[in-house]
Amino acid sequence: MKMNRVYFTKWSQTANMLTKTASLCEEAGIFDVVEKGDKVAVNLHVGELGNPNYVRPFFVKHIVDEIASRGGKPFLTDTTTYYPLKRNNAVDHMQTAVANGFNFAPFIVADGLVGENGITVPSPDPLLSEVEVAGAVYHADAMIVVSHLKGHPLAGFGGAIKNLGMGCVTKKSKLEQHRLLDIVVDESRCQGCGTCVDACWFGLPRIENDLAIMDSPLCMRCPLCKNACPEEAIRLENRDRLPSGLAVAGLAVLDTFESGKVSFVNFANDISTVCDCAQAPGTKFAEDVGVFAAHSALSIDAAGTDSIDIRHLNEIHGVDSLHQLRKIQDLGYGGVLTPELIVCE
Ligand code: SF4
Ligand code: SF4
Repeated sequence: MKMNRVYFTKWSQTANMLTKTASLCEEAGIFDVVEKGDKVAVNLHVGELGNPNYVRPFFVKHIVDEIASRGGKPFLTDTTTYYPLKRNNAVDHMQTAVANGFNFAPFIVADGLVGENGITVPSPDPLLSEVEVAGAVYHADAMIVVSHLKGHPLAGFGGAIKNLGMGCVTKKSKLEQHRLLDIVVDESRCQGCGTCVDACWFGLPRIENDLAIMDSPLCMRCPLCKNACPEEAIRLENRDRLPSGLAVAGLAVLDTFESGKVSFVNFANDISTVCDCAQAPGTKFAEDVGVFAAHSALSIDAAGTDSIDIRHLNEIHGVDSLHQLRKIQDLGYGGVLTPELIVCE
């Protein structure tokens, strides 16, 4: 069955990886989602400015060229971030895309100038009240999701499901997913030093009676303050809820497409413990693995997590990386946790 199958080509320092990836995509039928005249979103993370671990642009250019050769109208797309770095609004995001080499196709920031362009769709699970799918994704006829496998401080692991659930929705839906986590200050440890206030993007913690209060509705559980606290007084709780939210939002995004109109390519190279959203690349913890291609976000992420030491990621981030996969499976999405792996030369 198509959704249970993942195609794979091994990373090689002695072979042409563009040729290998092109053959892989062809064999996996990645471009079968494209029909003549389709507006085809190529959803990707262009990389935060300063972090070199994003997918190399020449791979993405090949995908764009193939879509165009089939009569589709390709555009690159991603959404604005909640946090105030270099992808926080459409102007900065487009400049970052160009700076990082994505200048060969229109780059459309899917949720508008500041995150205002979203279409509200029902959530497939009560965990989220609703999901605001970014406008340019919602209105696309087909989508090829190109992801870079890496660790993620809140989700444990980031791949295709994360690119769907977080990368294809507006700031409002991003915030709701992050706030599924609880943030707690241990009163017996907090010294009221204020380091957390200085560490926060928005200065949100309040110090009252020598105690940090974390009650702002704008808090995104990022958690810079937790990492900065010298007393280790801040902790996140209900860690499985954010990965669940990713799966729920991801499925809501997929449900806006007709069946068979979304495919996936995952790059497992330059695999670091933190995600491409960070300004610094983080610690590499695995050898370059290769490239995966599939028609299911679940199957392709399952093959990716199986190829790396996922227990290491779970340990350092304190969350089960496979939770997002199990959740999207529980929601009835196609694919499997142990896909058939077809190795391509
Ligand atoms: S940094 Fe830690 S110890 Fe200092 S005020 Fe914040 S929570 Fe309390
Ligand atoms: S988790 Fe901490 S640093 Fe992050 S937004 Fe909330 S208060 Fe600010």
